[in-house]
Amino acid sequence: MQCEICGNLIAGKVFLIQIEGAVFRVCGACSKLGSPVREKKDLKPAIQKPRPSNQLLKEPLLELRSDYNKSIKQAREKLGLSQEQLGHKINEKPSVIKLLESGKLKPDNLLAKKIEHALKIKLLVPPESE
Ligand SMILES: [Zn+2]
Repeated sequence: MQCEICGNLIAGKVFLIQIEGAVFRVCGACSKLGSPVREKKDLKPAIQKPRPSNQLLKEPLLELRSDYNKSIKQAREKLGLSQEQLGHKINEKPSVIKLLESGKLKPDNLLAKKIEHALKIKLLVPPESE
């Protein structure tokens, strides 16, 4: 048994200590570095909870589609909105819309979502679907 802190072999008693939430098995000398952990004898067997679905973790990383500027322009024109009107709708300056549609400005996720919502289009797509 090696001390998990200094790496020395522990000849005698092994101490269980806690440092910043992590538990270490250490030698006597290192046991002073953390707070002692009491092994809970009455620990109930952990109920096997169904693992939370990894849906949140697996949420695909979305990418801005490369033709976002065309999509915005087309969708806006389809809805008969001017750049000013769209800007007003999503609380942005018309100049922002102009920049977006000319491809000079890439919307961040928040802005892209606002536009998606306002124009009922998809700007953020999973990387592989391009
Ligand atoms: Zn040690």
